[in-house]
Amino acid sequence: MLTSLIIPCYNEEDVLPLLWHSLETVTEELREKSEFEFIFVDDGSKDGTLKKIKELALEDSRVTYLSFSRNFGKEAAMYAGLCNAKGDYAAIMDADMQDPPSLLPEMFRLMEEGYDSVAARRVSRAGEPKIRSLGARLFYRLINRISDADIVDGARDFRLMKREMVDAVVAMSEYHRFSKGIFGWVGFKTCWLPYENVERAAGETKWSFWGLLKYSVEGMINFSQAPLSIASWCGIGLTGVSFVMILFIIVRKLLFGDPVAGWPSLACIIVFLGGIELLCMGIMGQYLAKTYMEVKGRPHCIVGETNREDAKKIL
Ligand code: UDP
Ligand code: MG
Repeated sequence: MLTSLIIPCYNEEDVLPLLWHSLETVTEELREKSEFEFIFVDDGSKDGTLKKIKELALEDSRVTYLSFSRNFGKEAAMYAGLCNAKGDYAAIMDADMQDPPSLLPEMFRLMEEGYDSVAARRVSRAGEPKIRSLGARLFYRLINRISDADIVDGARDFRLMKREMVDAVVAMSEYHRFSKGIFGWVGFKTCWLPYENVERAAGETKWSFWGLLKYSVEGMINFSQAPLSIASWCGIGLTGVSFVMILFIIVRKLLFGDPVAGWPSLACIIVFLGGIELLCMGIMGQYLAKTYMEVKGRPHCIVGETNREDAKKIL
């Protein structure tokens, strides 16, 4: 039995030695259950990450790497790793140890109970900026209401999966990926493994506020058509409102003979409607843009350098 551990790395030279140390310990502990291959995906790092990975590869033949020709993002890195994984099991793990390797033995144990996948879920967000936790909570509440994929609050991309599930995830080859949604969408029997948040071991987060906001919009557009119907609902609602307004003006004219008053109210209405129309057009534009990119069928990423023979390089 072989397990592939996929580790996306972007400018992670500081944490790699720490990560490797704990991976060695854990895989030694699991020696009897499985053999391991490590797939480090260097996502176009600008520091010494690739050099560090190559050193590890010289030290240990289980270490392989895929190095992208530029930064393609974590989603692309995870996809490339999964496409190239040979294991009967595969797991994705952040390089910064926020997905603690020490959870692996428990994950293997739970898999033996007959699950297809064991996924880690943070039950706390200690050490994270308050605004980010709040945003995340709002996002999960909203997306679960408007989409058909089951997306669990606190879910990480860290999960151990059976081959069947890996194949299903790889078969979903959409260009705009949102893995948390994809894992939920493909289904399979999943066990959630709760754990307390761990802070990054070294280095710093790659996510800016805007980056996260864009990623969450991506998630919603990928897994829900609800925003599209906002336009229709606004249309119906505003038509209703305009009827009430017309009635009001006619009645006022008949009862009080009121002359036409003031342009400010008119101006407000025009601006309001203009705003709503643009909002709706913007939403449609978002879907159209995604459709455009999907239709082009561009690859997700390009592997520039690797030590895996028969690696798939253009994915
Ligand atoms: N990552 C990546 N490409 C990117 C950004 C991040 O491969 O463009 C990797 C990064 O090296 C790390 C994981 O994705 O292993 C999670 O990133 P980070 O810790 O910055 O995110 P956070 O934990 O703050 O959500
Ligand atoms: Mg992190």
